[in-house]
Amino acid sequence: KNHYAILIVGGGNAGISVAAKLLLKRKLEIAIIEPSTIHYYQPAWTLVGGGAFDIRKTVRPEQAVMPPGVTWIQDRVTEFFPENHQVKTASGDIFGYDYLIVAPGIQLDWDRVEGLKETIGKHGVCSNYAYDYAPYTYACLQQIRPGQTALFTSPSTPVKCGGAPQKIMYLAADYFRRKGILDQVQVAFYSGGTKIFGVPKYAEALQKLVDRYHIQLHFYHDLIRIDGENQIATFLVRESNGQTHEVQVPFHMIHVVPPQSAPDFIKQSPLADAQGWVDVDPYTLQHVRYPDIFGIGDATNTPNAKTGAAVRKQAPVLVENLLALMDGKPMPARYNGYSSCPIVAGYGKLILAEFDYNNQPMETFPFNQAKPRWSMWILKKYILPWLYWHKILKGTI
Ligand code: FAD
Repeated sequence: KNHYAILIVGGGNAGISVAAKLLLKRKLEIAIIEPSTIHYYQPAWTLVGGGAFDIRKTVRPEQAVMPPGVTWIQDRVTEFFPENHQVKTASGDIFGYDYLIVAPGIQLDWDRVEGLKETIGKHGVCSNYAYDYAPYTYACLQQIRPGQTALFTSPSTPVKCGGAPQKIMYLAADYFRRKGILDQVQVAFYSGGTKIFGVPKYAEALQKLVDRYHIQLHFYHDLIRIDGENQIATFLVRESNGQTHEVQVPFHMIHVVPPQSAPDFIKQSPLADAQGWVDVDPYTLQHVRYPDIFGIGDATNTPNAKTGAAVRKQAPVLVENLLALMDGKPMPARYNGYSSCPIVAGYGKLILAEFDYNNQPMETFPFNQAKPRWSMWILKKYILPWLYWHKILKGTI
């Protein structure tokens, strides 16, 4: 069979939630094209890196999360032919659709940091951004001794979960504090960004943490090279006059967040905007040029923070609009840019940032969520993973 009423590219958080939600509303012929045999719950990798979560609990077989009735095509999309309502896969198959939903996530560009691929997972170079390396982050924390340096990086590109580069840093600092060595360990944040957080309310709360943990902050610093064996990181520094220069910083451990961009097959497709992202209307999630195509999740150009929490609010909007479109009715739903970032402030402490397209806080609970709380840590460590596997992927919330 090579034609489906609804074809979904990507069976990650967004693709699976949308398929499940659609099927709860209507009997439809849906296929998901997804190459991976494993489905990951990525938000828990931060806790894995801090030694507070079992990595094995962050994965399930892809087959187990496929909503019943959906056809899983285990392949990778390589090309789009939107004029013909078709896509092509790596094995050369062509699939047609009435409606297409594009949800392939964001691409990790490990190659854009020279030497990174060769040294990641060794020499104190770790990253929570990959299943294979998140456990090594905790090993690195355990190896740090008084007098040593721990670096944490964040690139200037968009990333998934903008808070994740910092979450592991606060966990690390708290780990050193509990061990009684925080005063003797140099903890530093090197970010290609320009400030600690986009929403002033949470930026203020994070600055307090930075001060309490004595963390050094360096903005406009992009990691461009790592010499693992000699443990030296090279950053490209952007100066205010537009000039750049390089600085070399020795480390004993470095948590690297790789530069990220739209997946290459999206960048090269007619679906892309000038930056390569799937070009959708930020409120309806419908493609701006091809009305039978929608985009959702990290791969689109909607200007929200890229998180699973954003996907949770986008999915019902996409589903309502798509069903209305199929019925020849106006699209009723609008996405307001909601995103959330549970910022781990230390062990047992969490700031739950929630905000919209205008960086205005949109908090769920009737208390000040900028204050680090035990209850929100419990939410992150126990409740959200349970909700993910049992409710979000089932389309029921
Ligand atoms: P993904 O879930 O990444 O899924 C994309 C899918 O598309 C994958 O299964 C992939 O195999 C598939 N795919 C790729 N290329 C192709 C192709 N060519 N053809 C077909 N399929 C393809 N979010 C939060 O809400 N809270 C958090 O605390 C949080 N913390 C995070 C911490 C870390 C360390 C990381 C890495 C992420 C974190 N996130 C967090 C972000 C969250 O995981 C993502 O925003 C979310 O998974 C986005 O869903 P998605 O479906 O767009 O992409």
